[in-house]
Amino acid sequence: MTNLLLQKFNTQYNSAPFAEIKEEHYLPAFKELIDKSLQEIEEITHNPETPTFENTIEALAYSGEQLDVVSSIFFNLNSAETNDEIQQIAQEVSPLLTEFASKISQNEQLFSRIKKVYDEKDHYTLNEEQKMLLEETYKGFVRNGALLNDEKKEQLKNINIELSKKSLQFGQNVLAATNQYYKHLTNKDDLAGIPEAILAQYEEEAKERNLEGYVITLQFPSLLPVLTYAENRELRKELAIANGKKSFDGGEFDNQNLIKELVKLRQEKAQLLGYKSFADYVLEERMAKSPQKVLEFLNELLTKAKPFAQKDVEELSVLAKADGITEMQSYDHAYYAEKLRKQKFDFNDEELKPYFQLDKVQEAVFGLAGKLFGLEFVETSDIQKYHTDVKTYEVLEVGSQKSEDGSFKALLYADYHPRKGKRAGAWMTSFKNQYIKNGENHRPHISVVCNFTKPTSETPSLLTFNEVTTLFHEFGHALHGVLANTQYPNLSGTSVKWDFVELPSQFLENYCYEPEFLKTFAKHYQTGEVLPDEKIQKIEDSKNFMEGYQTLRQLSFGILDMSYHAENVKVEDVKTFETETIKATQVYPTLSETAVSTSFSHIFQGGYSAGYYSYKWAEVLDADAFQYFKENGIFNPEIAAKYKVLLSSGGTKDPMELYKNFRGSEPKVESLLKRAFG
Ligand SMILES: [Zn+2]
Repeated sequence: MTNLLLQKFNTQYNSAPFAEIKEEHYLPAFKELIDKSLQEIEEITHNPETPTFENTIEALAYSGEQLDVVSSIFFNLNSAETNDEIQQIAQEVSPLLTEFASKISQNEQLFSRIKKVYDEKDHYTLNEEQKMLLEETYKGFVRNGALLNDEKKEQLKNINIELSKKSLQFGQNVLAATNQYYKHLTNKDDLAGIPEAILAQYEEEAKERNLEGYVITLQFPSLLPVLTYAENRELRKELAIANGKKSFDGGEFDNQNLIKELVKLRQEKAQLLGYKSFADYVLEERMAKSPQKVLEFLNELLTKAKPFAQKDVEELSVLAKADGITEMQSYDHAYYAEKLRKQKFDFNDEELKPYFQLDKVQEAVFGLAGKLFGLEFVETSDIQKYHTDVKTYEVLEVGSQKSEDGSFKALLYADYHPRKGKRAGAWMTSFKNQYIKNGENHRPHISVVCNFTKPTSETPSLLTFNEVTTLFHEFGHALHGVLANTQYPNLSGTSVKWDFVELPSQFLENYCYEPEFLKTFAKHYQTGEVLPDEKIQKIEDSKNFMEGYQTLRQLSFGILDMSYHAENVKVEDVKTFETETIKATQVYPTLSETAVSTSFSHIFQGGYSAGYYSYKWAEVLDADAFQYFKENGIFNPEIAAKYKVLLSSGGTKDPMELYKNFRGSEPKVESLLKRAFG
């Protein structure tokens, strides 16, 4: 019997045949499809004809079609509906896929064909998308060292091995240092101000260690309540310092030397590949393009946001003064911020939940997509699902008939509730990419996965406001996928530059703060009462609360990150380097016992190196894009049409070009400042 994963699916829209897939299908399918894909690569590599765009670049882009489909299904299920068997298979499959990828990237004969096409690109008549595909394909190989001689290739390989070892070590040190520390207390009075529910957790923690009383750890859910609620200033200070000292105390888990080594290795790697700095290497593949551009951006934001941060601190200082504190410290910030928040607009998640029924919120987001982009969502029972909780929709162009050619835009899977086998959080993904091949437009199969409270027989699923914005966020990503209309699968939908990918998602979140729109769906699930204006005002106020301070904090991370990856960087002493670099971003005195860098896992362990700026960058993009709508009507059809072009284009054009075509100018920091500070 043939394995059903090996061929085109015999289902409507070729959707994944979940009901028929068995776990034992995966591993043999992966093995066979990897072989088949390598066979395709071999054919491209050894094609007796001269290399052309079609027989090399395009052929490569379309290769491995079925392997992509099966990988998507398998890894999506490993996130949303996993079990021991799937996890076991993932362990076996992952190294096979890594090996497969390196067989392609190390294929010198294949690269020489690609290079020939690239060098002769002026002889071809290529459209913009084809030019982009050629550029990206070529660069992908070059950035992996394809142009280096054998000796340098070997050097690069060794640097990469060292880099991955040392980043792993960095993360392990932070983890070990976090776990090593705990604070034991026996007197409840020392914990005054901390909510009872949290104290119960501290008691649990103590019991697990066979101790009397309370134990606080440096795990975030344990640490944060102390900083936020503890009236005991000495305790706040002690915990804040313990946390800031992590991997910075000269002990066995110290990270200072690793930072110096990582910085040096990254610099070597960049130089080996012909870049001035590691930041130049990373940013070449980003919307921002150069370190200069990023630094200009961060510094502009710093200058403009600093007065607001200072105002935040002044406001808190008044409260602190009443407690006899003449000079606020960083460990006082969260405590007084919480006090002020309570004074100004005390409200909690529970108050809003009855107004946000999941079904109604989804209806609203569907309606919004209809208004802006002419889309319609029709629930269908003809599509196989991987779990009964999942709902499936056909996404159609409004007003067209299902049978009409071209009206079908996408399949949408909505999987909203938690269960064993689904990881935490919320995300958008796809089971199948959009692309056009041999004149046929293959439409995408998009999925939105969340963890919202399940309905009961008495109560429907009700969302916190945070969950409402989460749904809009993921749906924004989903629209990027649904509207995709490009030739090649690897330039389609959300396959865009890393600092551009959060624009569509964050953009859509803006609608949650528009009273005009909010009132169309935020209605009490029992009484039908529309969300009252004073509650809307509280949502608005709490969103921007302490925004000045938060902005400076983010900027300090962004600037620190860029400095470690800048040209000619030399780190003699981590603390000195850090203090000098982020001086201008600090609104509280620096504590000599602590450091940020030594537990800055985002950039030294994870993949945010020379990329931390992108959090604020994406905020400017979405604020600026939404500002355009606000000035002309949040449902303005002409602007929506222009925005639709941006969404449909995926990664086929330079993102700044796409953005300027939509907006008429580059994104402006002012739009973010206006939204945050009025
Ligand atoms: Zn996102």
